[in-house]
Amino acid sequence: MHQQENKLHAPLTTLKGIGPALAGKLERLDVYRVEDLLFMLPLRYEDRTRLTVLGAARPGQRCLVSGEVLLAETVYRGRRSLLVRIADGTGQLTLRFFYFSRQQQSQFQQGVRVSCYGDVRAVAGGLEMIHPEYRLLKPEHDAVTSDALTPVYSVTEGVQQVRLRNLVAQALEIMRSTAPSELLPDDVLADLHLPTLTAALLYLHQPPPDADLQSIEAGKHPCQLRLSFEELLAHYMSLRNLRLLARREAAVALRGGREEMQAFIRSLPYQLTGAQDRVCTEIAADLSQPHPMMRLVQGDVGSGKTVVAAVACIKAIACGKQAAIMAPTELLAEQHWHNFNLWFHDFDLQLAWLAGSQRSKDRKESLAAIATGAADLIIGTHALFQDGVDFHGLALIIIDEQHRFGVQQRMALRDKGMSGKLHPHQLVMTATPIPRTLAMAAYADLDTSIIDELPPGRQPVTTVALPDKRREEVIARVRKACSGGQQAYWVCPLIEESAVLNYEAAEARHNLLVEALPELRIGLVHGRMKSLARDKVMRAFKEGKIDVLVATTVIEVGVDVPAASLMIIENAERMGLSQLHQLRGRVGRGREQSHCVLLYRQPLGQLARSRLAVLRDSNDGFLVAQRDLELRGPGELLGTRQTGLPQYRIANLLRDAELMPAVKRVAERLQRSEKQKAALIITRWLGDAGRYGKV
Ligand code: ADP
Ligand code: MG
Repeated sequence: MHQQENKLHAPLTTLKGIGPALAGKLERLDVYRVEDLLFMLPLRYEDRTRLTVLGAARPGQRCLVSGEVLLAETVYRGRRSLLVRIADGTGQLTLRFFYFSRQQQSQFQQGVRVSCYGDVRAVAGGLEMIHPEYRLLKPEHDAVTSDALTPVYSVTEGVQQVRLRNLVAQALEIMRSTAPSELLPDDVLADLHLPTLTAALLYLHQPPPDADLQSIEAGKHPCQLRLSFEELLAHYMSLRNLRLLARREAAVALRGGREEMQAFIRSLPYQLTGAQDRVCTEIAADLSQPHPMMRLVQGDVGSGKTVVAAVACIKAIACGKQAAIMAPTELLAEQHWHNFNLWFHDFDLQLAWLAGSQRSKDRKESLAAIATGAADLIIGTHALFQDGVDFHGLALIIIDEQHRFGVQQRMALRDKGMSGKLHPHQLVMTATPIPRTLAMAAYADLDTSIIDELPPGRQPVTTVALPDKRREEVIARVRKACSGGQQAYWVCPLIEESAVLNYEAAEARHNLLVEALPELRIGLVHGRMKSLARDKVMRAFKEGKIDVLVATTVIEVGVDVPAASLMIIENAERMGLSQLHQLRGRVGRGREQSHCVLLYRQPLGQLARSRLAVLRDSNDGFLVAQRDLELRGPGELLGTRQTGLPQYRIANLLRDAELMPAVKRVAERLQRSEKQKAALIITRWLGDAGRYGKV
């Protein structure tokens, strides 16, 4: 049996009819080993289990037919083409080829029998098939019907469907003679009503003629669920390995700092919410362990994640260590810089700043303070972890608005933050609440804390959606609100193609509003501004010296100006729900009743309409995220590429989300008591590297 499994693990070139060139092309489909062919499921199927007689063939049908060549001719009407007329006694059909060789031309001798598979179309002279797949039949033979539906695979340039089909068939043959190990326990399969791996693979590559194609198309067939389940399990266990691994690594146990934390919390102008308090306790417990914390803090916009991060920093610093906070943009890093300076002012702590746009003299000073340990807390962008930064006893890394960082990036940061053999503790804070099942799959390497309570006195933001031809009315509304002392954000259309266009759009909107609202003070921030200039405008807005802030989506995450109570978002129909929720979360932070106006361009499609309705009807970020997931899929929600969210071969997080609780259960069990199987499952789906880490 070992022998056979090895055949499945062997390189593709061990199969018949494939050399290095074709193997190279298949690598583009992520197919390296014989077994990988098995996990490359068909895109769809063709029914060649029945032969359709020509008299019964109908336009629009895709079918297998056969007949005898009556006549073959090359015609030049418009385009040179080869026409072959065939008949079977019940009817006639024309085969039409635009591309054909001389050899093909001479094949179709009168009286030769052929079988063809293709789309039947109605044309003036009767029925025809354009470029059917065809086969010449020996005189005594009939058209070959298949026993199973014919799979159609995704092909890559230079790989023919027939070739691929043949290779998969060889792989299936190897599998049939000895099945790959069944790695899921029998009782799990029974509980979940799932077939074995072998049965599932055979079925999906060669479904019986009566297969339930509808459920296969929906991705809900038990055979597909069987494969998705194992794939999700492999990814989950691989991520979970990282967490298990972290438990074996060493970190400084930050045991002290209790009093300092209390003193800091007492110094705040408000009381922590119950949820903030609970999460602070969870973090403090992690930090006091001699193993690196890997914790994710989820909380809706405005739930007060920053101050929780500050409490964690205080603990690390009180224990004589350094802490670092990394934000995804300079704007956000600056805001933290501002907040932490205020908060820590009375505690005699040293803060250092690091960002890309820094002057080299300032940077040198920061680097020196960091290296000598004079700096207690370092705030910045990803510049924090570039070469040349030499920490001095860094014990805590906080990543804010973490949805832009993937597993690999989290790992890289940990490595860069090492001091000696000690790993830093890591705290990541999401900007976007993530539905539970998705979080399970994407963040299985992290423990999770949820701040599920907003600071008291917040009033839900009322949201309306209006066509942008009513912009004048909205401007009037801004005039009224701001004359009464309120402040407003005006978010400009998002032009994804170009930063320059974005900037121009913002500039144009700014001019329009300056003209329309001469009595108001109107500011502008956009992504191309120097951070110093942007900071100046933001500060003026924060201090109430600007009434209306025109902005591109740079203000999307994290920006905190409690006095602002009106949010206008243009071209809302082009933005993601979670992004809109983030933007809306910029208001509703003070005691004033806040409003959000979503301007959209008509006509509004059905999907856009229902998305805007979600925002109108709910202020709950978790619910919005769930709907975003349902409407657009996980890649959009998390921003696929940046997150490092895995690319699955078969599973689809949106479609298969409901499998996750069972995946989690089975993963825990296997990794506890059947380690060998767990490791084999990971290798089967993720290759030898296990992708995320090994225990
Ligand atoms: P986010 O979770 O979106 O990062 P922030 O940390 O920016 O939220 O906090 C949002 C606002 O709520 C800030 O103005 C902050 O000062 C305020 N805030 C945080 N915690 C509390 C609290 N417990 N009571 C009152 N206001 C709070
Ligand atoms: Mg924040």
